[in-house]
Formats: sequence, C-alpha cells, structure tokens
Amino acid sequence: MTFPESISVQLNCTPSHAEYLIKIFPRKPELRRTIWGYKESLFQANPAEASPWCGSVYSGVSAVRKFMTPSIVFDPAQRTCYFETKLKRSEQLDKIPNTLELAKELIRIDSTSRRSNLAIIDYIQTILEKSGFVLERLLYADENGTSKANLVAKKGKGRGGFGIFCHSDTVPPGEEEWKPFDPKVEDGRLIGRGSCDMKGALAAAIVAGANIDPAELSKPYYIVITADEETGMWGAMHVIAESGILKQSWPENGVVAEPTSLIPIRAHKGAVRIFVTAQGKAAHTSTDKGISANFLIAPFLAEMAELADLFRSDKRFMNDKFHPPTNGFNMVIDDGGCNPNVTPAKTVCTMSLRTMPDDSRDMAIDLILKAAEKYGLEGRHLAVEPFSVSAESEILQAALDITGCNAGATAHYGTEALFYQDYVNLIIFGPGDINQAHTVGEWIDIEQIRAAESYYTQLIKRCCRFQRYADCKSHKDIEQD
Ligand SMILES: [Zn+2]
Repeated sequence: MTFPESISVQLNCTPSHAEYLIKIFPRKPELRRTIWGYKESLFQANPAEASPWCGSVYSGVSAVRKFMTPSIVFDPAQRTCYFETKLKRSEQLDKIPNTLELAKELIRIDSTSRRSNLAIIDYIQTILEKSGFVLERLLYADENGTSKANLVAKKGKGRGGFGIFCHSDTVPPGEEEWKPFDPKVEDGRLIGRGSCDMKGALAAAIVAGANIDPAELSKPYYIVITADEETGMWGAMHVIAESGILKQSWPENGVVAEPTSLIPIRAHKGAVRIFVTAQGKAAHTSTDKGISANFLIAPFLAEMAELADLFRSDKRFMNDKFHPPTNGFNMVIDDGGCNPNVTPAKTVCTMSLRTMPDDSRDMAIDLILKAAEKYGLEGRHLAVEPFSVSAESEILQAALDITGCNAGATAHYGTEALFYQDYVNLIIFGPGDINQAHTVGEWIDIEQIRAAESYYTQLIKRCCRFQRYADCKSHKDIEQD
C-alpha cells in the first residue's frame, strides 16, 4: 500500500464542532487560537445555526488526530474548515498503537457517561476499520437526548467464536484536584480516569484482535463496546435489541472486561428493586383535612426494619460463596421533599436486594409485597437474575488454564453480564483492581494491561480455533517483542 505525501480534509464545521476541535488539540496552542477565532466568527455570523454533531467531522478528525500532524485553515464565509496535513512515511495509516499507547489515547478522550461518547467511538472505529473488523455502529439518544453510540465489531467468518464485552463510558472525574484526562505513567502505573475501568482492558481487547490474522480464525472474534454502562447499562440493553451482527450469531464464549485483577470471575450478584407507594391527600396542616402518606406507610417501614435483621441472620437468605454473603437489603424513602406544614400526598419506598443463586429471593420479595398489601399499599418489583456460568464451561476452563487459577471466583459488584448471559457463556475477566475503579487518581498496573493483551490473545486463538494455536505466544514472548 502506498501513501500520499499530503492530504487535505475539508469539514463543514459549526461552533460546537469547533469547540470539540479545541478539546482534542489541547497541546497545540496555535491551533487552539485558530479554531477559537473560527468559532467566534461563526457565532457572530449566526449563533442560532449550531447544528447537531455530525459523524463525518468526528471520523475525519479522528484520522487526522491520530496519524498526522495537521495545520488548520478556516473560512467563515464558506462555513468550512480545512485540515492540511503532511503525512510522514513513518506514520502510516495502518499502524496500530501498542496497548499502553492506545490506553493513553482513550483516556485523553473524555467519555464521562453524561457526555456523548461519539468522539471515543469514532476514534476506536478508525482503528478497528484499519485492522480488518466489520463494524456496526448503533446510535441512540439517552434520556437527556444526548447522542450515544454502541459499537459491535467482528473479525473472521462463521458463527460462534469468542467476544470481549467492554464499555466506553467512565464515571465523572470527581471534585478533587487531579488531571483525569491527561494520562501519566509513574512507578509502573498508568494514571487517569478510566485507566482501570475500563480503558486499559478496552485497549488490550482492541490490540489483541488487531494483531490476529482473520484467515487463521475458524470462528469469529467480536468486540462489543457500549455507552451508559455506569449509569444503568442502557447501552447493553440497546445492543441486545438492535445489533444485526449479533442477531445473526452471538459468540459462543466471551469475557466481560471489568477489572478483576485478571482472576476469572464465574458469578456475581443480580438485582431486585421493589417499589411500595402510599397514597394520601395533601392539605395545609392548619386545616387538618389531609391524609399523610408518611403515616400510612410508617407501620410498613417498621416491618422492613425487622426484615433487614432477618436477612442478615437467616442463612436461607445468604450464599457463603459471596463476600459479603448477604443480600444488601436497602431502603430509601421519597415524599417529594414535603414541607412540615403540608401533609404529604404520596410517599414511595424503594427497596433493593443484591441477589445471589440459592438465596430464597422469591421468598424475600413475597414477604415485602405481602406486608405492603397488609397495609393497603401498592407494590411492584423488577428483577434481574444474578450472573453465573457453569463450572465446566469452555470459557471458564480456558481462562483457568491460561492463568493457572484453580477455580473461578465470585464478585460483589454487577456487570453487563446480567444482560448478556442469556446469549453467551461468559466470565468476568479484566486487568486492574476493582478498588481502583471510580477513585480520584484512578490507576492501573501497566503489567496488568500487558498481561490482559496476552491472555485475550490466547483466548481468541483458543475459542476461535486459530489454525496455528500451537504457535500461540506466551505473555513473556509478547513482552519481549
Ligand atoms: Zn466498568
């Protein structure tokens, strides 16, 4: 393949695009100034004309940003922005960054759940396209109307095979002083928001797949990357409902790449929410004509306090394979922030249980709903089954084999496996310690990211029946490359 000496990219650009450009070129002050000037002049020309994000701007910019050193010219009259770039021969477009470099790039793109994740998805898409994946981009708007995308990538032909399930979003950076989007390497650690949960794992999954020759795969390799995992796992539900690639064929085996310190996790807790509502009648307390929903619900709440004790002491509601072995019964109460001089008209008590296999949860739900009924309150519930995979499953056995662990462990947190487990045999298996996830100063051991790349490569080769599996590199071999 030959590469041109130079390339120019022309983009129709709005003020909001310009703002995005400023963000992604933070260390090029002259570029920032130019773009800023461009943005201001657009605003002055017609501030109402800021159009929604357009995918082509992101795609163009992603390519420019990664592989070239751009200079930029703008033409407000034409509402057009030009990138002029000189391509260096050494910066060929098909060069895939190594796992650590890629993890750093992913951290640089702020993908906090409340923002659109289109920028990070665009960047990943560029790399996966160059690496021979077939891609499916699934767009949706979240509950605030913000554009989000999930990405389903497949390499190799046929059915079954192996998939790695990742999310692109992170929790917010937190209040304290640190540089969450300016990745830093220190004492063998990569520091930055998402380094542990889960941009390190995402980079390992991408690079492991990018380096595999599809002609050697007897079964396909998939990477599924969602939005909104941290805020309710809406992306995973959207993928299940919308992905044409997965409707055709799900992988047979897979890994959810949440941080487990690379210990294979074979089960985690599920979730139940129970909503109990008391309906009263609002009135100013001076009239004494109201009916307080809080007084109506009070005896029910007292019973819930007794149930909380029961759940913590009765073995029927526990499972000793989990730490802690209890169902985490919790209750919050909402009367709409009623003033003390008004009788509250409606009070909702929301309870949650973290369910485990064999924890008598049906009995627990029944006890709660029967108590609600006894006091004339409305009750309803939603349940998501706990996640578990059979001890004999191919994926668990393969992971135990390559890591040298004796048995799969259990986790106290939930993952997207709750939704995917109906379609694919899964384990939770990713680099980094869960205790580092979501913290201010979040970090991951770089050795863990490298080991993840090696383990993921071995799982792809094994589960996708790589034709030269015997040649499979060990972790140490990859390190020496
Ligand atoms: Zn996560």
